[in-house]
Amino acid sequence: MSKKTRSPKSPDQAPSPRPAETPAVKPEGEAAATAGQPAASPAGRAGSEPPRSTPKTVTGAPGSKPVAPPPAARSVGKVAAGRSAAVAAPPATGAALPASDAADQPAPSAPGAHPVMLAAPVDAGAAHPIAASAPGADEPVTPVEPVAAMPAEAPSLPLADAPPSAEPPTVEPAVAAATAAQPSEPEPEPEWAPPPPPARDSLFIVHISPELAPVAKVGGLGDVVFGLCREMELRGNHVEIILPKYDCMRYDHIWGLQCTFDDLWVPWYGGAIHCSVYFGFVHGRKCFFIEPHSADNFFNRGVVYGFNDDIWRFAFFSRAAMEFLWKSGKHPDVIHCHDWQTALVPVLLYEVYQRMGMTHPRACFTIHNFKHQGVTGADVLSATGLNRPDYYFHYDRLRDNHNPQAINLMKGGIVYSNFVTTVSPRYAAEAKDQGQGFGLEPTLHIHHAKYGGVVNGVDYEVWNPEVDPLISANYSVATLERKYDNKRALRARLLIADNEKPIVAFVGRLDPQKGIELIRHALFYTLAQGGQFILLGSSPDSSINAYFWGLKHQFNDNPDVHLEIGYNEELAHLIYAGADITVVPSRFEPCGLIQLIAMRYGTIPVVREIGGLADTVIDKDFSHRPLHERNGYVFRDYDEAGLESALGRAIACYYQYPEHFRELMKNAMRCDYSWNHPGQDYLNIYDLIRER
Ligand code: ADP
Repeated sequence: MSKKTRSPKSPDQAPSPRPAETPAVKPEGEAAATAGQPAASPAGRAGSEPPRSTPKTVTGAPGSKPVAPPPAARSVGKVAAGRSAAVAAPPATGAALPASDAADQPAPSAPGAHPVMLAAPVDAGAAHPIAASAPGADEPVTPVEPVAAMPAEAPSLPLADAPPSAEPPTVEPAVAAATAAQPSEPEPEPEWAPPPPPARDSLFIVHISPELAPVAKVGGLGDVVFGLCREMELRGNHVEIILPKYDCMRYDHIWGLQCTFDDLWVPWYGGAIHCSVYFGFVHGRKCFFIEPHSADNFFNRGVVYGFNDDIWRFAFFSRAAMEFLWKSGKHPDVIHCHDWQTALVPVLLYEVYQRMGMTHPRACFTIHNFKHQGVTGADVLSATGLNRPDYYFHYDRLRDNHNPQAINLMKGGIVYSNFVTTVSPRYAAEAKDQGQGFGLEPTLHIHHAKYGGVVNGVDYEVWNPEVDPLISANYSVATLERKYDNKRALRARLLIADNEKPIVAFVGRLDPQKGIELIRHALFYTLAQGGQFILLGSSPDSSINAYFWGLKHQFNDNPDVHLEIGYNEELAHLIYAGADITVVPSRFEPCGLIQLIAMRYGTIPVVREIGGLADTVIDKDFSHRPLHERNGYVFRDYDEAGLESALGRAIACYYQYPEHFRELMKNAMRCDYSWNHPGQDYLNIYDLIRER
């Protein structure tokens, strides 16, 4: 068995611009790789560290600058043809606006529309983000919201380009009948009004989120909400978070949990559901947890997601969170909501609560993944008290762009928010112009002036090898040697061999998005190249889990492989600290935290050039960027040759140019992917949209 390797180019020989993918190493047969033996002994010294045989260094410059992401593309591009959002059964009252009425086409701004750019001032009256509807369109059909309670200066100035149609939607007879049949919404007590907002210099920000790390974390969304909230508090703002009270939360991470509001009645299907609201601190963050007392048992399911009524569960949560804000008299400057689960919040804010008198808050909506949009029948509208199906079931508002029988919650969030962000500039452009918007491309084009990408930060209080209590030995750039204590501890914990090989790791959800085939190929290829492979991940899809369980059994006796199928936060910390290389071969990746966390721990990312991965990882060999800014390996094509071209270079560098590898590790550790920069970006957005 022989191992063919291409000599890696040293960085100063790197061609530019970046060439097409060149597979660095032809893989051995996978059966051979399974045996776990590289063809030739790597030229490294024994022990866990990369050998130090080569005196050349990668970089000469001390310190590395944070990577400046490119601006989001603004050009009008091709609209994606396909999509994969799940669509529920059409509503019985299938409204029938003709497809030709599809209004989500790029259109010129309506007169008076205020195309908001980040630097532009916002008119204080710019309270309604889709105020381009024709006069009268805001009139409720059913006596839900007391129109008399609307502010004298009725919100009129849109923050974004106007939706193209100023015509009120035509009401089909079936819809009109359905409208008349809607149960009426309980009216707010007329004698009660919330106290006025206190004068303050700092901002009052409320996040309404389905996830928060570490108490209710499924993926990166939970990390992002925690880290962003912490950063905003550090900057002197008042931040509160509203969450569902799941039975499966990590209650050991909540301090002082107590019921603080026991009489919240949340309108639901013409009646109301009694809720209790609990308050507690999650590592210093102020959190309210909403517990409904209903036979639906919305949040006592053992896991956060995965049920047929997920859309109803989170629609209820959205309504409950808004009702809690209203009843508790809170007047946040900004309500920040996340993903389809809370996309109804801006709709409810502007269509229900603003009419009742909650005129101060503005809405920011962050999309963490366009793939899941909350596409469903229109029933959920009347459930939440949005009782004008003809009005909402219109292409200007919530009607799905592709399925005329369905509404799209994420679309509603985009249309009604004052600002929409996604989690990296590259992904923002891919979603709008390159087919990653899963059908929302036209909507993003219409609302492009209030749309942009902000790269997620990493909470360096939680993810910091200098102080991390969950790893064996703390270390920094100056004490990099100690990283190898973690490598040894990781091997001891997972019962894999202690040798000179590099550890290549994958941590993450085993979702098709993450590149299942290439993760698998990375395992075989790593073994063929003389490395060890560790995987930590799980999937809600039992067939995917079963597949990886099969792989685990296949490699059970291999001393260079460990697959951990499951979710284990503590082990994740040790893997980031102990591995040498991490692979993130995603099909698409909105931002990706794995590569950012890995870099903080000096673990070199090998990533596909897509979304946030492309914004944050700079190829060691093929880049225009200064040497000290390069921090990993990048490949373009989603295929095995693409992966090999980057992973092969990483492993070859580890063995053949260990000093280069070590400098690359230091470059990665010096990158600043804290919340510092994105925190400022979000503050700018909040400042732009808030009422003054
Ligand atoms: P996504 O949000 O798409 O799942 P991200 O890269 O944005 O992916 O964030 C993933 C986060 O979840 C990281 O903090 C990662 O460490 C963590 N994570 C994912 N899977 C696991 C797992 N099986 N065990 C522990 N942590 C995990």
